Amino acid sequence: MPFSDPGRWEGETPPSRAGRAAMGSHVQGTVWVLAFALAPVVTGAVAVAAWRHRHGNPPARALAVVLLGISGWCLAVGVVLAPSAPAVRAAGFPLIFLSVGATAAGFLALSRLLAEPTWRPRRHLVLLASVEPVLLAVTSVLPATTDLVFGRTDLTAPAGAVQMVGGPLFLLHSLYSYAFIAWALVRLVRLGRRGQPVVRRQARVLLVSALPPTLGNLVFTLGMRGEGVVDLTPLFFIVTGLVAGWAILRTGLLELVPVARDQVVETMTDGVLVTDEVGRVIDLNPAARRMLAALRPGAGPAVLGRPLAELAGADLLRTVLPDGPAADGTYETGRAVVEAAPGCWLDVQSVPVASAGRRIGRVTVVRDVTEAQLREADLRRLAQQLAEQVATVDRLRAAVAEEAVRDPLTGLHNRRHLDRTLLHALARSVDDGLPVAVVLVDVDRFKSVNDRFGHATGDAVLCAVAAELRAGTRSGDTVARAGGEEFVLVLPGADEAEALARAETVRARVGALVHVVPGGVLTVTLSAGVAVARSGGDGAAELLSRADRALYRAKSGGRDRVVAAGVAGADVSDVLSTA
Ligand code: GH3
Ligand code: MG
Ligand code: MG
Repeated sequence: MPFSDPGRWEGETPPSRAGRAAMGSHVQGTVWVLAFALAPVVTGAVAVAAWRHRHGNPPARALAVVLLGISGWCLAVGVVLAPSAPAVRAAGFPLIFLSVGATAAGFLALSRLLAEPTWRPRRHLVLLASVEPVLLAVTSVLPATTDLVFGRTDLTAPAGAVQMVGGPLFLLHSLYSYAFIAWALVRLVRLGRRGQPVVRRQARVLLVSALPPTLGNLVFTLGMRGEGVVDLTPLFFIVTGLVAGWAILRTGLLELVPVARDQVVETMTDGVLVTDEVGRVIDLNPAARRMLAALRPGAGPAVLGRPLAELAGADLLRTVLPDGPAADGTYETGRAVVEAAPGCWLDVQSVPVASAGRRIGRVTVVRDVTEAQLREADLRRLAQQLAEQVATVDRLRAAVAEEAVRDPLTGLHNRRHLDRTLLHALARSVDDGLPVAVVLVDVDRFKSVNDRFGHATGDAVLCAVAAELRAGTRSGDTVARAGGEEFVLVLPGADEAEALARAETVRARVGALVHVVPGGVLTVTLSAGVAVARSGGDGAAELLSRADRALYRAKSGGRDRVVAAGVAGADVSDVLSTA
């Protein structure tokens, strides 16, 4: 028995030291009995705590079995050492073998379950592990074999003076149990160094709790004891129980159950494919299998060992890894979202796997992003529609704004626009020092056109005149219908001479127009007043009013002529131009 093996305690105390030994034995007896009484209570209580965590947590079950085994074991040794009849003491032996068997097997199972919670001991394994403890238990009660178990243990000695010196079977049992425990410890050390993070912590805590009794017992068994020296293994078991109990209750040991990485990969909805260095599939999860089947329904179910390029399509692979395979058949890391089949979008990421500096294959992770892609396309469509609508609204708004400054009959700008443009032109002329000319145009005797040919003909004549005015403008000029049969030209940069010349041209061209009217043709003439504002000169109202006075003089002068207002405010020097 490995931990508290009192089976190899030394033989009887030499008679010469009987007195001292009796006292030492007495002390030993009391401490042992106390220790062996306390240890079952502590480990039993922690076993209950571990058992409470058993649901969905196989390692917790194994830990409960281990702690229960320890509890029974300490109890059994207590029975052997307690002041009682030899027959009662002898009954402790079978219990020792059964509980040590449970402890050792449970510990081994625990070390396995920590790394692999889905592992279940097969029935033949359980049977195999039970054979040795049951056999030892039987041999310890069969009169023919008890000596092989008890050895030189004197069950009639007084309490505390019982020296357990087990026989060959007991020794065999000790070696057998040590083998189990050593195996479990090696596993825990490995898990503590390289397991998943959750498991690493659990393995370390369990190692810490198992090491004191293991080392204590080893040290004791290897002979570091003498007369009056107490085997403290059961006390160490109390430490084991306390550390495990603290870890379960305070630090949540056993709260987190790891899930094996294989299972994670198997359940992933992303496809995971492993290929060897020449691109043949060597492993894949069910999701990847489904995706391949969907991509190439005719490719058949046999996938392993076949080139991925053949299964997924060489074009697809080239899209993901644009450089194509290198001479050694391997690819660099690549990622792309591709339309693998009509309406099927895949996000494919492929990473080389290396071992000891040598590339040994690739892992390719494939995610179906069809839905996201469709949503994105919808969003793009919506964004486009929105942009078109915004453009339409902008166009409409511009049209409305334009309409607000246009005269509906002639299409020329209206009075409102004229006022604004004139103010603008005058302000600019102050800045750049250039003149601004305005020409006020009025159709002569227009009322008679209406009277003779009707309003509609009048309108048509107005439109023809407006078109002629517009044709005579240059970039930067403004032509507006001021109202009725009156028009205004704003000519930025034009001095009086130029404005007069241009007004004269317009007058001549309008006069030359021939309008077809019911029952014949018609011509109209116009009169114009020209006024020029010089930089820093008059304002819009004053300028228009001067042009108006010049127009008045053109009318009173006989019509069909252009009259200049002359220098601002000096109407007397007006220039007259007639046909
Ligand atoms: P004057 O040479 O002195 O300018 O004589 P006139 O007849 O042109 O002047 P008056 O101001 O007496 O008449 C202008 C006419 O213009 C009066 C009105 O019926 C006409 N008129 C004003 N707006 C429109 C319009 O939109 N369409 C038409 N057909 N006629 C209009
Ligand atoms: Mg008029
Ligand atoms: Mg008129």
